[in-house]
Amino acid sequence: MSRGCFQEEHGIFRRNFRQFIEKEVAPYTLDWEEKGEWPKSVLRRMGELGFLGLRHKEEHGGAGADYLYTVVMAEELPRCGVSGFPMGIMVHTDMATPIIGKLGSPEQVERFLKPAIRGEKLAALAITEPQAGSDVGAIKTSAKKDGGEYVINGSKLFITNGANADFLTLAAKTAPEQGLHGISFFLFPTDTPGLQVAKKLKKMGNHSSDTAELVFEDARVPKEYLLGEENMGFYYIMQNFQGERLIAAVSAVAGSQLLLDLTIQYARDRQAFGRPIIKFQVNRHKVVDMATRVAVARSFVYDVCGAFDSFDSAQSADPAHAVPFELVKEISMAKLFATEVAKLVADECVQLHGGYGYIEEFPVARAYRDTRLLSIGGGTSEIMKEIIGKIMDL
Ligand SMILES: Cc1cc2nc3c(=O)[nH]c(=O)nc-3n(C[C@H](O)[C@H](O)[C@H](O)COP(=O)(O)OP(=O)(O)OC[C@H]3O[C@@H](n4cnc5c(N)ncnc54)[C@H](O)[C@@H]3O)c2cc1C
Repeated sequence: MSRGCFQEEHGIFRRNFRQFIEKEVAPYTLDWEEKGEWPKSVLRRMGELGFLGLRHKEEHGGAGADYLYTVVMAEELPRCGVSGFPMGIMVHTDMATPIIGKLGSPEQVERFLKPAIRGEKLAALAITEPQAGSDVGAIKTSAKKDGGEYVINGSKLFITNGANADFLTLAAKTAPEQGLHGISFFLFPTDTPGLQVAKKLKKMGNHSSDTAELVFEDARVPKEYLLGEENMGFYYIMQNFQGERLIAAVSAVAGSQLLLDLTIQYARDRQAFGRPIIKFQVNRHKVVDMATRVAVARSFVYDVCGAFDSFDSAQSADPAHAVPFELVKEISMAKLFATEVAKLVADECVQLHGGYGYIEEFPVARAYRDTRLLSIGGGTSEIMKEIIGKIMDL
C-alpha cells in the first residue's frame, strides 16, 4: 500500500472525518484533558455517523470497509489536538471490539458488538495486571466454572476506558496450570456485581483518556459470555495485538507529522540573532532528519497496512486466516520504528521551541508527554525486538 492506493472514496471519508474532528471534537479536547475523560455523547455521535464500525461486517452494523478507512481515521484523529481521546476511541474500535466480530456468537454480537458500533456501549480491553504486562502468560485473574456461570476473581491494571466502559473484553485464566494455554476471553458487562473500579489512575499524559485499575471479587458471568473457545485466549490476544500495534504505528506517524509541521512553522517565525531559527543550519538539518525519518516510517507502515488488509478483511478467527509470522515481524517492526521516531520527533520539537516548548499552553509540551506512551502501551519496544528476534530465529 502506498499513498497512491488511497482511492477517491477514502479521500471523501478523510474530508468528512476531518471536518467532524475539527468541528465537533477539537474545540472541547482541552476541557476533557482537565476533566480526565471524554463524554459518552461523542461516542454516540460517532456511532450515528458510522465511524465506529469501519472494519466490521455489514451484518454486524459495520461498514465492511477495507483497512485503509481505519488508517484514515487513525491519521485524522490526532487533529483533535490531544492523544487521550484518540486512544480511547481506538481502544474501542480497534482493540476491544474486532475480536468480537471474529469470534462472537449471534447473542454476543447483539448484546455487545452492535451497541458498541452504534456508540451506545463503550468497550475496554482488559489484559494487563499489576504483576503481568509484557508477560501476558503470567496473568492471574481466574475464571472458574460454576454451573452455568464463570466466577471471576483478580485484578486488571492500566485499563483504558476502564472507569467508563459498559463492557470489557476480558482475559482470565480458565486453566491456570496450563500457563499460556490456560487463558480465555470473556465479555464482561461492567454492571456485574463484584466488579469495582479500584482507582482512576493519574498519568503523565493522555489526560483525556481514563485509565483504571479494576478489581473482581466473585463476579459472575454466564457461560455464554465466553468469547471463542476456552483456553484459546493467548492465541486470540496475539492475533488481536497485530491490529492494535499496527494502528499504534499509523497514529505515531500521523502525530509526528502534525508536530513537525507545527514546529517548522514555529521555527520559521521565531527569531534569534536577527534571523528565523530555521535558518541556522543545525536546526534545518534537525528538521530534515525528522522529516526523513517520518517519511520512511510512513512508507513502511503503509506497506505493512497493505499486507495486513487481506487478513483483516477475512474477519475470521480461523487459524487458517492467522496473521503469518513474516507479517507479525513487520507489524512489530512498524510499531517499533514508528513509535521510536515519534519519541525522537517529540523531543527535538520541544528543543526547537526552546523555553516555550516546556510551557503547558504550547501543544508541543502536551505532545511530548502523550508520545511517551507509544513505545510502552500495546507491547514495549523491547518486546517488539524480542518478537522480531524470535521470528528471525536469532
Ligand atoms: C496509559 C496506559 C494505557 C494502557 N491501556 C491498556 C489497556 O487498555 N489494556 C491493557 O490490557 N493494558 C493496557 N496498558 C498496559 C500496557 O500494555 C503495559 O503497560 C505494557 O504492555 C508493559 O507492561 P508493564 O507495564 O507490566 O511493564 P513490564 O512488563 O513490567 O516491563 C517493564 C520493563 O521491562 C521490559 N521488559 C519486560 N520483559 C522484557 C523482556 N523479555 N526483554 C527485555 N525487556 C523486557 C519492558 O520492555 C519494560 O521496559 C496500558 C498502559 C498504559 C501506561
